[in-house]
Amino acid sequence: MTLAGKLSLGCIADDYTGASDLANTLTRSGLRTVQTIGVPSDDLALPEVDAVVVSLKSRSIEAGLAVTRSRSAEKWLRSRGADHVLFKICSTFDSTDAGNIGPVMDALRADSGDAIVLVTPAFPETGRTIYQGNLFVGAVPLNESPLKDHPLNPMHDSNLVRVLARQSKTQVGLIDLATLTRGEAAVRARLKDLAGKGTGAAIIDAVFDRDLETIGSVALGHRLSVGASGIGLGIARAMVTSGKVKSSATNATADAPVGGPAACLAGSCSQATLQQIANAEKTMPVLHLDPDRIVAGPQEAQRALAWARDRISDCPVLIVSSSAPDQVAALQSRHGRDAAGHAIEQAMADIADGLVQSGVRRLVVAGGETSGAVVDRLGIPGFLVGAEIAAGVPVLRAVGAKNGEMLLALKSGNFGGPEFFSDALKLMR
Ligand code: ADP
Repeated sequence: MTLAGKLSLGCIADDYTGASDLANTLTRSGLRTVQTIGVPSDDLALPEVDAVVVSLKSRSIEAGLAVTRSRSAEKWLRSRGADHVLFKICSTFDSTDAGNIGPVMDALRADSGDAIVLVTPAFPETGRTIYQGNLFVGAVPLNESPLKDHPLNPMHDSNLVRVLARQSKTQVGLIDLATLTRGEAAVRARLKDLAGKGTGAAIIDAVFDRDLETIGSVALGHRLSVGASGIGLGIARAMVTSGKVKSSATNATADAPVGGPAACLAGSCSQATLQQIANAEKTMPVLHLDPDRIVAGPQEAQRALAWARDRISDCPVLIVSSSAPDQVAALQSRHGRDAAGHAIEQAMADIADGLVQSGVRRLVVAGGETSGAVVDRLGIPGFLVGAEIAAGVPVLRAVGAKNGEMLLALKSGNFGGPEFFSDALKLMR
């Protein structure tokens, strides 16, 4: 891989799945995008890309730590030439009065030198809209939505001007829909007016998809913005429309074949994954692990590896820990929920590692936590986002991995159609 030229867009995401969602959105909007796991090393070699999304786990940690990590991500992105940095937060503004959105925004704004920053978690296509500064989740205000009972970040106020002001050192203003509807010049004028009064952040309303495009164009005149995948979409479209980035409808580098054996792992026990496993039984060898034996020790993972090694040179295989809800409940009552889940995740990571050492270059993983354990174990620093296998599940090409060229697909349990495993393998050559 060659070292990349200058980045057009740098993003800092406050959690991994939000980062994947944003990286996928940017790719679908025409930007060649890499998602990294944590802040990359200074010497990470990247292919030629337009955007990098640095995935942090900083949403619910102590605010000071979130600021430190976000600033080191920002430093890395700026060192790769990113003129604009998007701080990616949850579309439901998950945070408490202690942070972390306000403190991170304040620090990044100070670093960027911007007088005022645009803030909007709106993403109309997923039902997140903002009117008069109030965030709606579908038809209800945020504080009446299920987010009011979130275990870590319960949201009791739908007015984001107030929510952000409680977390931030700066005054927070509003750019309302009426102003936005008058177009970019009106938004710029309002921003100037607010900044002139010492207001350092502006929540901007957005109700329709097209609103994101206006916001994206205005944001590009600044060095920093804050929002969810919706503003990412607006910024990406503005970059393509303005000619700053040449749209890449297909990402040849991401999708180029790697060859070599293929394997699938399933640790999700969701209905969708159980159905996908049942369908895969018709097209590939499937090994069902014994969950009690996994919890008991390493022999079950070793058995799975021996089974796979006998087969992977002939055809892809699927190794499954997943079982039906009654069996999951029974296992959990015997071993405890966390202990059982953790033991199985680690066994799947052991199996993934052994498979890669045995030559597997194409790996499909079903299950969010299971995927996280596998990626951590394989020590993959980042992914170039490729073609979409199913909504929200792209082909990923490992970037900077010690094991060399590799394609992965990582899916949350409920994602994908009934033939997900064979759909994935068709695109992962
Ligand atoms: P999803 O995306 O469907 O939530 P995850 O991988 O995030 O899937 O979570 C599934 C959890 O269930 C993991 O902790 C995994 O180790 C655990 N698990 C997998 N198989 C079993 C099983 N047979 N019994 C109990 N827990 C299991």
